Amino acid sequence: ISESEQSAIDAYEWAGRLFHHVLRYTEDGQEAYQYLNDRGFTDDDIEEFQIGYSPLKDQFLTSFLEQKGFDLQSLASIGLLSQRDGNIFNDRFKGRVIFPIRNHQGKIVGFGGRAVEEGVEPKYLNSPDSKLFQKGKLLYNFHAARKVAQKENEIILFEGYADVIKAHQAGVQHGVATLGTSLTESQAHLLKRYVSKVIICYDGDQAGREASKRAADMLQQVGLDVLIANTPYQMDPDDFIQSYGADKFQNQVLGTAETYVTFMLNHLKKDYNLHVQSDQFEYIEKALDLIATVDHAVERDVYLKQLVQDLGVQRDSLDEEIAERRRINERRDEQAKRARTESQRTQTRQ
Ligand code: ATP
Ligand code: MN
Ligand code: MN
Ligand code: MN
Repeated sequence: ISESEQSAIDAYEWAGRLFHHVLRYTEDGQEAYQYLNDRGFTDDDIEEFQIGYSPLKDQFLTSFLEQKGFDLQSLASIGLLSQRDGNIFNDRFKGRVIFPIRNHQGKIVGFGGRAVEEGVEPKYLNSPDSKLFQKGKLLYNFHAARKVAQKENEIILFEGYADVIKAHQAGVQHGVATLGTSLTESQAHLLKRYVSKVIICYDGDQAGREASKRAADMLQQVGLDVLIANTPYQMDPDDFIQSYGADKFQNQVLGTAETYVTFMLNHLKKDYNLHVQSDQFEYIEKALDLIATVDHAVERDVYLKQLVQDLGVQRDSLDEEIAERRRINERRDEQAKRARTESQRTQTRQ
């Protein structure tokens, strides 16, 4: 880690402590503190996640860090300050609740700043990407969640900071969130190193469901078992916990999580009118493609029984179709494997 990167971390650490102090112990922080309180964030939450507030002053943080001897220009380049008219520097997150984002060593490398007033755009202002802060590689709360995750061999994936914090309050300590972007392959690989199962617990709106599907595909592809939790329509996990409490969240949202295949089949079903024969055939084809990828025979059996029930088709013919697809997939996998070994051999020779 270079000197300038270390200096950037130092600045974020100072800023995080300052904003947290403002929120907890000063008059300037009272409105934001009240706002968090009304949303159900407790003092414990505020401590645990070091939530803060950047007061409505142009140069509150700027002059603090200037006095500490930081180079304002480089603080602007990592998005901690904003810069205008050449060399006038200002606080970038002013008037926002601050959610510090830590790297995997637990050091603050970015902020998510939420507007306190409804209707302010953007709702969340995040630090921009830099060498230190790469949204596609980090996950919110990963550094704290990974121990519990490893022990439980599973991790819960949320959309937002608020969801992670409320889940923690509800006793779920192995929750993480993406940083306002879709889940990347690099994040999927990271998770694979620690757990074998991921429960996706995204928002219950259309966007959340589409995103669940994409995230599930990504996680499945790196070899993770995927479950998808049942966040009710038009709620997110944070709303749900706020309205119904920890037990219902554990039992009704996480506890009823569906497998990847069930979730996808339900999704798929909505695209077709199963009373129309051509639609029905197409649905069966796609459903079989999906079911054939499941390696456990017992699990396949559950899905096939459901298909028989939903569509009134013969089980025998479905079994034949599955067997055929699995033969094809196996051949394809073997070919891919052979191609990989072959290319490795060529590389070693060179
Ligand atoms: P809240 O509960 O505070 O309203 P949320 O987490 O439910 O926030 P969502 O709208 O569900 O907010 O967005 C999920 C995540 O996406 C946020 O936590 C944030 O990281 C990111 N995000 C939301 N809005 C923006 C935005 N305008 N710009 C950048 N990132 C955003
Ligand atoms: Mn504190
Ligand atoms: Mn949300
Ligand atoms: Mn929310």
